[in-house]
Amino acid sequence: MQRLDAFMARANAAYYASRDPYVDFTTAPEISQVFGELLGLWAAVVWDMMGRPDPVILAEAGPGRGTLMADALRAVRAVAPDFAAALRLHLLETSPRLRQAQAGRLPGATWHADVADLPAGPLLLLANEFFDALPIRQFVRRGAGWMERYVLDGRFVEIACPAPGREAPDDSVPDGGVVERCESALAIAAMLGRRLAQAGGAALLLDYGPQASAPGDSLQALASGRPAEPLAQPGNADLTAHVDFQAIAEAARAAGAAVQGPLPQGILLARLGLYQRTDRLARSQPPQRAGSLIGAAQRLAEPDRMGRLFKAMALCHPALPSLPGFAA
Ligand code: SAH
Repeated sequence: MQRLDAFMARANAAYYASRDPYVDFTTAPEISQVFGELLGLWAAVVWDMMGRPDPVILAEAGPGRGTLMADALRAVRAVAPDFAAALRLHLLETSPRLRQAQAGRLPGATWHADVADLPAGPLLLLANEFFDALPIRQFVRRGAGWMERYVLDGRFVEIACPAPGREAPDDSVPDGGVVERCESALAIAAMLGRRLAQAGGAALLLDYGPQASAPGDSLQALASGRPAEPLAQPGNADLTAHVDFQAIAEAARAAGAAVQGPLPQGILLARLGLYQRTDRLARSQPPQRAGSLIGAAQRLAEPDRMGRLFKAMALCHPALPSLPGFAA
């Protein structure tokens, strides 16, 4: 029997180590090159706001195929050569297989398994669809008390536990209602918050989740590109859960950092120039390629596609003013 977070951590480690996850899902940087380009330029502008520290660590958490960072660095080299010269590239990745894929696209990077292993100093960190892969615990309201979910032979087993804390004022969760908690996300947020407050910098997190903490079972699995039963085939399915931006913000603030957002991804991307950059690119392309570039931008930013469900939030040094895209 394993607690759900232990089950999810093992299942995802096996999953990411053994296969190309992009057979099962796609992500924003794989949809349009403009996504990574805009985030690279975001980092370049924030670096300028930080007083242009040299060297500066540019890190990405969970870089997948390395597409986001490859697009970001291409844009940075073209537009912000001083930042390109100052940055030291560090990648957080646990899967040896994905590290190899990243090495092919990002020569000169240094890899780490954990945020805690990043070298000290001013930091700019990007994380797209990283936090949703981190293991969660689930608590179920049963009458006056709470049960926690464990996994045994592909099924949930419930064990009595204390009330799960801040997310669950007892009267807001109905009987049988589920509350989730992602302890690794909170630990990473606290660690990032501490070092951003001490050494300066910012972290930009983009992920799928509600604007404010909300009860509900958001655990989901994708296998062979289709929704699957989360407990049925550990290691063969990608397991994710909604990211609790409010809890992450609270952990980062408690550690001394400031937080900007969350706001819908579509708004951030539009403010950063998604449509202008896409139009410029499209103009020099044959009609079919131009059409697919514009379609890709719409997919990323329109409210009924990925534009609203995905949120963007920044953690940063408290002295930094509004970061690009976050000013009202
Ligand atoms: N950011 C990429 C990939 C998202 S998939 C994109 O947008 O396409 C999640 C990524 O996080 C994978 O690279 C996976 O191997 C990595 N990952 C998952 N759990 C991790 C952990 N605990 N520590 C470090 N990396 C992790």
